[in-house]
Amino acid sequence: MQLTNDELVLDAEKEIKLERESTLKIIKLFQEISARRIYLERGFPSFYEMVTKHFGYCAGSAMRRINAMKLVQEMPQFEEKIETGELSLSVAADVQSFLYQEAKIERPYSLNAKIELVETCVGKSRREVEEEFARRNPDREKRETQHAISHDRLRVSFSISKELNEKLNHLKDLLGHVDPSMTTESLLERLAELGLAKYDPKRKAERASARKQKAFKAVPRTEVWRDTKKCDATDQEREERATSAAEARPNRENFGPRNRYIPAKESHTVPDDGKGCTFTSPTGRRCGSTKFLQLDHIEPYAQGGANTADNLHWMCGAHNRARNDATTRVQ
Ligand SMILES: [Zn+2]
Repeated sequence: MQLTNDELVLDAEKEIKLERESTLKIIKLFQEISARRIYLERGFPSFYEMVTKHFGYCAGSAMRRINAMKLVQEMPQFEEKIETGELSLSVAADVQSFLYQEAKIERPYSLNAKIELVETCVGKSRREVEEEFARRNPDREKRETQHAISHDRLRVSFSISKELNEKLNHLKDLLGHVDPSMTTESLLERLAELGLAKYDPKRKAERASARKQKAFKAVPRTEVWRDTKKCDATDQEREERATSAAEARPNRENFGPRNRYIPAKESHTVPDDGKGCTFTSPTGRRCGSTKFLQLDHIEPYAQGGANTADNLHWMCGAHNRARNDATTRVQ
C-alpha cells in the first residue's frame, strides 16, 4: 500500500535522524584514525588524502568532516548539537576553518571565545555565519579560494596589496623583451620555475650532475696529456678517473667527521621514477605524494646507514618524518 504524505515525511525525519547520528559516529572514528596516524601506514601523506582516496569522499565532503572533527575534538560539548542538527556539519566546518584562518593571521581565539563563537552560530545558516565572520574580521575577502573549472584549469581568487601589484607589473615591464603582453599567469609560471630551480632538491641534484659532467670534460685534459696511454681512455674510464680525482679532494663529502650531508653524486643517482614518495603500505598502496620530497635513508642514518644511493630513496615530508619518529609504528 502507498504511504500517506504524513508517513513519507515521518520516514524521512527518522532516516535524517539516523544519518546525523552516523555522521557523528564517523567524525568520532575519524578522530581516532587521525590521532593514531593510521593514514601514514596505509600509504597516504595526510589524513585528508585517506578520507578522499580511501573512504571515497569528494574534496568538499572530506573537508567538512575533517573540520567538524577538529571542532568537536576541542569542544566536545557541541557533539550533541551536531547530532540534533542544530549545528550543521557545514556550519561547524566553516567555524573551524574561520578559527584556523584567524589563528594564521595572528588573531587566535581563546577557548572561551571559540565556545562563544560556536554558540552564536548554533541554529544559523551558512550565509548567516559568513556574515558573522565578516563582522568579526572585515578583511576576510583577502582569503584565497580555488576551484576546478575544467580537468586542467583552476580558478584561484585572492586579493593582493597595491605594493605587490606594483612589483608584479614592474617585473612584467622588465621581462617585456621576452613577452611584451605577459599575463599574470605566465609571470607566475616563470617565478615558479625560478623558485623550483632554487628549492627543489631533485633539480639541485640534476644541476650537480650537470656540473659533474662539465668538470669531467674539463678535468681529464691535463691528466690525459700527462700520460699518453690515457689518450685512448674510454669515456667510462675518463669518468671514473674524474670521479676518483674529485673524491681525493678534501671537501664536505669526505672531510671531517661523519655527517648527514648527502653528496650530489649520490643524490642524483638515487632511482626516481617521477611518481613521488616511494613509501608503500603493507597492503601495497604507494603514497606517491610530491609534497616536500626528500631523500630518506633506508637503513636509518642514526643506525649507521650510509649516504650512498643504494641506501637512499625519495619520500614525502610526512613519511620521512614518520620514519624518523621513533614513536610511529611505520617502519
Ligand atoms: Zn609519502
